[in-house]
Amino acid sequence: MWLPLFFKNPNLTLSGYKRQLIFLKMTSVEQATKTVLQNTASFGEERIPFHQATGRVLCEGLYADRDFPPFDRVSMDGITIQFEYFKKGKRVFKIEGLQAAGAPQMTLQKDENCLEVMTGAMLPLNTDTVIRYEDLEIRNGQATILIDEIKDKQNIHRKGTDRAAGSLIVRKGCKISAAEIGVAATVGKAGLLVSKMPKVAIISTGDELVEVNEKPQAHQIRKSNVHNLAAMAGQWGITADLFHLLDEKEAIRRILSKVLVEYDALLMSGGVSMGKLDFLPEILEELGVKKLFHKVSQRPGKPFWFGRTEGAFVFAFPGNPVSSFMCLNRYFQPWLRASLGLSPFAQQYAVLGKDFSFKPDLTYFLQVKLENGKDGKWMGMPLEGKGSGDLANLVETDAFMELPKGRDKFKKGEVFPVFVYR
Ligand code: AMP
Ligand code: MG
Repeated sequence: MWLPLFFKNPNLTLSGYKRQLIFLKMTSVEQATKTVLQNTASFGEERIPFHQATGRVLCEGLYADRDFPPFDRVSMDGITIQFEYFKKGKRVFKIEGLQAAGAPQMTLQKDENCLEVMTGAMLPLNTDTVIRYEDLEIRNGQATILIDEIKDKQNIHRKGTDRAAGSLIVRKGCKISAAEIGVAATVGKAGLLVSKMPKVAIISTGDELVEVNEKPQAHQIRKSNVHNLAAMAGQWGITADLFHLLDEKEAIRRILSKVLVEYDALLMSGGVSMGKLDFLPEILEELGVKKLFHKVSQRPGKPFWFGRTEGAFVFAFPGNPVSSFMCLNRYFQPWLRASLGLSPFAQQYAVLGKDFSFKPDLTYFLQVKLENGKDGKWMGMPLEGKGSGDLANLVETDAFMELPKGRDKFKKGEVFPVFVYR
């Protein structure tokens, strides 16, 4: 299907042909995204204490068990009267008593008197208008109203005016934030039904990697990207288990065959490129993981491998820390949202802060620092770094800006999608 392309370009060298072949065999970012989103799964539901539910996806509607508010609620500290008397010109009211918040409802005994009332109290019976202390003078058991602008029934939060008892307040399928926690508490939902998080394994590979508390020898480095992935996934509510695979086929087989059965999603890093010891694609297929794509026409993250079994999804990212981090944000996060039953997140965009050029025919995920631009728009200032191994550069930047393939010059002022990671 792509052969005619070669013949159309007589100037290509043999290595040029080879390169073109590789480019043509790669999956586009759009296709990779589509494939990832076509391969999601639900991991069930569970009931958890409401105060642990922030960030989770609600699997039930939250209904008002009472009216919101449940009674005519005094909304200012002051006195309550019958407006009728104020209208007739009365300004001095004898104080009969005090209606506190949390006390049973009182009744004004004499129509021409008043009761002191506190915010949050039930409005006493036989009264209809609340006047705040700021507009009063209280002396010798009497309240004098100092202003003339008093409205009938003012400063009362009427029963049921926010929401009626029985009405749906929080829809099923929403992501629980502090706002929903407040509602859950109000309606007495101590336990909330939420979608279960997938069981995730984060797996590093490579003989060169040592633990964070070890001192690396000259030929070693501390493993960083699994922690970087775990920290990011942790922000999305995932508590992952960490594994490490040496570059040895037998060990990889042994550990992977177990992990594939015990986990819903595997986030792997390294071992999927062209190296002599990059065994993962071969072994994954050997273990029955169906490859859905390998190699995406993008930088960083070109060697990204994605596949699945009946019960597990395998995101095998390249080992370079910027690559695995980008792929996690760009592919795993939308997959997670979809799997949990959330609608896709509203794509964010930013204005490119200065001219930028990128030659290879790949989608380029440019690292940018986000600044406040004109008209309230974000501006992404390119901070390229030294390539996909330069994890220190991530500290300086906030997002990946997705520059489409098929062009090599990008102008300051153009708007592109951004994937924000902080
Ligand atoms: P690979 O994809 O296995 O060829 O690895 C590409 C580069 O990423 C190599 O320089 C590795 O040393 C590095 N690398 C792989 N895994 C990790 C890791 N967990 N933390 C830090 N660097 C890594
Ligand atoms: Mg490796």
